[in-house]
Amino acid sequence: MAESEKAPVAGANFIHNIIDEDIKKGKNGGRVHTRFPPEPNGYLHIGHAKSICLNFGIKEKYQGKCNLRFDDTNPVTEDPEFIRAIEEDIQWLGFAWDNLCHASHYFDQLYAYAVQLIKEGHAYVDSLTGDEVREYRGSHTIPGKNSPYRDRSAEENLDLFERMKAGEFKDGEHVLRAKIDMTSGNMNLRDPLIYRIRHAHHPVTGDKWCIYPLYDFTHGLSDAIEGITHSICTLEFEDHRPLYDWFLEVLKIKNPPQQIEFSKLLLNFVVLSKRNLKRMVDEKIVNGWDDPRMPTIRGFRRRGYTPASIRNFCSQIGVSKAYSVIDYSLLEESLRQDLNDNAARRMAVLRPLKVTITNYDKEEVLKAPSHPSRPEMGERDLPMTNTLWIEQDDFMEEAPKKYFRLKPGGEVRLRNSYVIKCNEVIKNENGDVIELKCTADLQTLGKNPEGRKVKGIIHWVSAKTAIPMTVRLYDRLFTDENPSAHDDKDFTDFLNPNSLEVLQACYGEPSLKDAKVGESFQFERLGYFCMDPDTHDNQPLFNRSVTLRDTWK
Ligand code: ATP
Ligand code: MG
Repeated sequence: MAESEKAPVAGANFIHNIIDEDIKKGKNGGRVHTRFPPEPNGYLHIGHAKSICLNFGIKEKYQGKCNLRFDDTNPVTEDPEFIRAIEEDIQWLGFAWDNLCHASHYFDQLYAYAVQLIKEGHAYVDSLTGDEVREYRGSHTIPGKNSPYRDRSAEENLDLFERMKAGEFKDGEHVLRAKIDMTSGNMNLRDPLIYRIRHAHHPVTGDKWCIYPLYDFTHGLSDAIEGITHSICTLEFEDHRPLYDWFLEVLKIKNPPQQIEFSKLLLNFVVLSKRNLKRMVDEKIVNGWDDPRMPTIRGFRRRGYTPASIRNFCSQIGVSKAYSVIDYSLLEESLRQDLNDNAARRMAVLRPLKVTITNYDKEEVLKAPSHPSRPEMGERDLPMTNTLWIEQDDFMEEAPKKYFRLKPGGEVRLRNSYVIKCNEVIKNENGDVIELKCTADLQTLGKNPEGRKVKGIIHWVSAKTAIPMTVRLYDRLFTDENPSAHDDKDFTDFLNPNSLEVLQACYGEPSLKDAKVGESFQFERLGYFCMDPDTHDNQPLFNRSVTLRDTWK
């Protein structure tokens, strides 16, 4: 692994405390085994990264194990493309699972558990319609009532359940339900559904099954089958825990797994549900799941985020049960820290203005370190000629007194090169500045000028050797802190129209011709940039990953 990829995973949190206690008590023989259980119905996002860092972080901390389990009980929303992408993203983050599991591999075992529940009077086949099931369930204020089918005999239930499995019924004709308590204050305990009929092809089990188990039944039992000790999930599942435990108890599971809930990651200016992310892809609001503006792991990766920056972010935000919205700038700061330490420095000009040095006719090759504090990263060549590009922003014709960049009659240091003075400003017929005629003080290479102070330093490239580049600048996708929290508005009403700006006529120093796709650089004074996979025909394409400072506030 590269230096930047080695980073701590997670500081101590309340879940670690629970595990410490369990180990002390000798629970599960001291074993620690977690799992990350994505539903393969989309790409992973930064919220999933929090869960991945937590679960795999526990494995690393306790020298335990962590499974990757595809929670693939819903045949119609699953796609093998998502499975591959999820595996790749977890590996890219720097984690390795101990077992690769699919809930669908347990369908036979789960069926057997369901049969056991029926035989022991803990489950029944209900033949109410979907609407009737809902109506009978009641609400938070109205107790539910028993289905007229609730007292079917075990034989009749077994017969019906077998025939459900054999495909004798249409979707929705019957369901299998746990027999718990229709008046429970916890809605999840009002005879929850265990199996439903779904005549659908499953990517793993094909056409073997036309009944599929539901989440609450499947999840805890899959944990039990895999020997998971701590089953960590987000807080929405807190009031499912009694049901999670109920299945384990009535089925007399030995060493049952323990469900522990934490609060999910919420980030401002971002939407994080797969459903909404999918809409952005389908409605072409963004250019695919890996669009560098997307909060998906792939989007961040293409944007130039490193695995270490995401892991450090997850470790900084911590894990708790408290509801909190994390500031997006924390994520950006984590990336800056990593790239400041690890990215090579280069010069590039995004909005070029021509400079001619009238007293310089040499062609020298100057040198500059690739990193200010890491000599092992070497030096690069900076050809110096009499025609240069500088940033339009670094010249001002009517400049205030405190303007230390270039102005008529003023001097500025070219980074890693000479001090130059602007003698003449050339304009086109519209009055736009198109060229500056300057002279260089040839005594100032690596030395301060004599008798005066030059405060400003600007970046530049030689026009003769620079390579043309395209640069994409990104801004946040949304203008609202919480775009999906408005009842009267759709999150797409808050799209930032300027979230992408493409600059076609940029120039980079010649060493950038060796840049590789995915490689990150600091373009001095501008920010961090990462080479995009769409680079072709030797015309580099860079994504700005993040600016040098937080410019959002
Ligand atoms: P989404 O609503 O975005 O589809 P999900 O929870 O349905 O998310 P799953 O594939 O079911 O997605 O989730 C896999 C794991 O990731 C679960 O354990 C879930 O709790 C966790 N997870 C999902 N979103 C977040 C989040 N924002 N923060 C922390 N963990 C999350
Ligand atoms: Mg889900």
